[in-house]
Amino acid sequence: MSHDPNCIFCKIVAGALPCTKLYEDAATLAFMDINPLNPGHALAIPKSHAKDVFAIEEEAIAATVKTARKVARAARAALSPAGVNLLQSSGPAAGQSVFHLHFHIIPRHTGDGLRFNWTPVPGDMAEIGRVAALIRAKIEA
Ligand code: AMP
Ligand code: ZN
Repeated sequence: MSHDPNCIFCKIVAGALPCTKLYEDAATLAFMDINPLNPGHALAIPKSHAKDVFAIEEEAIAATVKTARKVARAARAALSPAGVNLLQSSGPAAGQSVFHLHFHIIPRHTGDGLRFNWTPVPGDMAEIGRVAALIRAKIEA
């Protein structure tokens, strides 16, 4: 398991920083994004540090996609969005700001106007926690 002491997501994996957790297994972790684009915006990450799609091992990204799918299905069951985006950005030019590979799980609504590159806006943590509980309840084994 690779760990980068300067990486914010490695700190979350290690429990040194808090997160609103949705799901975890041996290889992956899913938690709420603190700057949600839409209610239910979540992240799925490998527990082992890898910078991006170019650095990550095949098995680790496969496990992360599996977790992202699980969260997307739970978000759909809990929130009934019109659609869901799974977004992975590799490299600053692609909009990556945290250099530990992650998939965004973003519930979508018709005409919500979201675009690929965005400016993060802090969410209301109480509201994020409330939505997380709805999604968590729909995670399938
Ligand atoms: P990206 O721009 O694709 O690298 O996405 C990084 C995402 O991580 C952004 O949507 C941030 O809002 C999110 N983020 C950064 N720090 C945290 C944190 N401590 N807990 C949850 N989400 C975070
Ligand atoms: Zn990391």
